[in-house]
Amino acid sequence: MKKPIILTVDDEIEVSNAIERDLRVQYGKDYKIIKTNSGSEALETVRELKKRGDQIALFLTDQRMPDIEGTEFLEDAIKIYPNARKVLLTAYADTNAAIAAINNLGLDHYLMKPWDPPEERLYPVLNDLLNEWRTNNRDPFEGIRMVGIQWDPVSYRIKDFLARNNIPYQWLDIETSKEAQKLIEIAGEPTPDLPYLLFSDGSTLSKPDIREIAERVGLQTIAKKPLYDLIIVGAGPAGLAAAVYGASEGLKTLVVEQQAPGGQAGMSSRIENYLGFPVGLSGSELTHRAVTQARRFGVEILSAQKVVGLEANGPSKTVKLQDGNELICRSLLIATGVSYRKLEAKGVEALTGAGIYYGAALSEGESVKGKDVAIIGGANSAGQAAMYFSRFAKNVTMIVRGESISTSMSQYLIDQIEGTPNIRIWPNTEISEAIGTNRLECLKIHRKDKKQEETIPASAMFIFIGATPHTDWLGSQLARDPNGFILSGPDMNTNGHSQYNFGDERVPFMLETSLPGVFVAGDVRHGSVKRVASAVGEGSMSVMFVHRYLSTI
Ligand SMILES: Cc1cc2nc3c(=O)[nH]c(=O)nc-3n(C[C@H](O)[C@H](O)[C@H](O)COP(=O)(O)OP(=O)(O)OC[C@H]3O[C@@H](n4cnc5c(N)ncnc54)[C@H](O)[C@@H]3O)c2cc1C
Repeated sequence: MKKPIILTVDDEIEVSNAIERDLRVQYGKDYKIIKTNSGSEALETVRELKKRGDQIALFLTDQRMPDIEGTEFLEDAIKIYPNARKVLLTAYADTNAAIAAINNLGLDHYLMKPWDPPEERLYPVLNDLLNEWRTNNRDPFEGIRMVGIQWDPVSYRIKDFLARNNIPYQWLDIETSKEAQKLIEIAGEPTPDLPYLLFSDGSTLSKPDIREIAERVGLQTIAKKPLYDLIIVGAGPAGLAAAVYGASEGLKTLVVEQQAPGGQAGMSSRIENYLGFPVGLSGSELTHRAVTQARRFGVEILSAQKVVGLEANGPSKTVKLQDGNELICRSLLIATGVSYRKLEAKGVEALTGAGIYYGAALSEGESVKGKDVAIIGGANSAGQAAMYFSRFAKNVTMIVRGESISTSMSQYLIDQIEGTPNIRIWPNTEISEAIGTNRLECLKIHRKDKKQEETIPASAMFIFIGATPHTDWLGSQLARDPNGFILSGPDMNTNGHSQYNFGDERVPFMLETSLPGVFVAGDVRHGSVKRVASAVGEGSMSVMFVHRYLSTI
């Protein structure tokens, strides 16, 4: 935890050293003492400390200084730190200035120089002021502070990235937070593009891309080795399970993830059907455990890196990344999962990220407090999202195209939803238009049992309809089904015989694709079950076939 700061300002070096020494003796354990030697230097320091997210508990400033007088310094400094206590060091002749400062600036105290002995003339005054400050001020937030516009899609993408990587951040809305406006004021010229991120070391990023943030917070984005036994594309449950098994069994293993580990499971507010967790666990908790386990076995995880191509040159495979880098491996597992199909309705595309989200944007819970929310879809993922947002929203409307949710949703979720008074289910209903100027405001819906369209208020809409596999990047290199899911093992058989013969009469292993040594696991596989447990099972199992394949080359 960072210590709060006592900042001194005095141009006379001897006095400055003496006051610093006395403060250190008495307060050094609980406070950081920062000494400055002019008003302008002090103001610069104050701005820098604000950017770092430090807290100033007390200003102790001399009145007579050549560049800026003590009261002038305080006038500017309290605009940045309004809660800091203010003490002026004065000579007899400055009494009038001090009294004026009590009235105009809320000066807490003025001390006549010299202050000896400090036990009598300095510490009692400061003890009172610091105690008072402590009771009225919370501990500082030490993570990233992010100033942005609530409904801006770029801000949303960054919040989602930080949340899903378990990186603590504080969201400050420029339209409603005074703190946000203050941070932008001290950012300097020109006014930064939003979102604006301030890190605890004082550095900042203006409208950064995900990759820049990943690098700044110390996530690995560059591979360390020239060759890996196993590269896994995708860090969802399937990819992470394969990583744990691969590395624990001695394979040099690397995972490449375009966003954040966890995949779809990371979006789940509560997974209740995963073996061994009788009261359920959140997707982020499962992910955190899996990532820790994988790293303990020495797995490298590249974040914010998208795989865009694959080249197989016999036993060696080259994985191409979007940033132009290439990785080389002896075997490859594709565990890229699926994402939700796009909702085709007027206005949806324009407002995506500005109130409209695909999947459960868990980071948006606070932003829908007391508002109306719509959930599109009738499967378990939609049901979980309805339960999650019902904790924040005034009303949650589940818009379901089918006749009921009983065929698409687990009974335990249906029971929970029926027992939640602020969730209503509208079956036989479709969205015809999303309406809003800068963000979603309302939805035009069409209920099959009613002739006319209706308009309902909605501050946010979360979409959970059908799945599209993440396989575009593969082109025609691997055999896929008509919907793009990857074929593997026996799926490639015709009349009991594989269409693919990998030499030595070998047919593809289970989970092996049409390219020898390239495997597939989880939701992206043709015929997969689309559950966390099955993705984990396939990922774990794939490693056994990877070993068998490696023994053939
Ligand atoms: C909201 C929600 C709730 C759910 N709840 C449950 C539940 O309660 N119980 C249950 O059993 N199942 C649940 N599911 C389903 C379950 O999460 C999935 O079946 C499971 O996550 C599939 O795992 P996967 O590893 O195959 O793929 P995914 O989880 O989809 O992970 C794939 C990963 O690959 C990455 N990726 C994709 N393309 C690339 C690329 N080109 N380069 C690099 N990385 C890439 C993606 O960013 C992603 O992180 C839920 C799903 C959702 C969305």
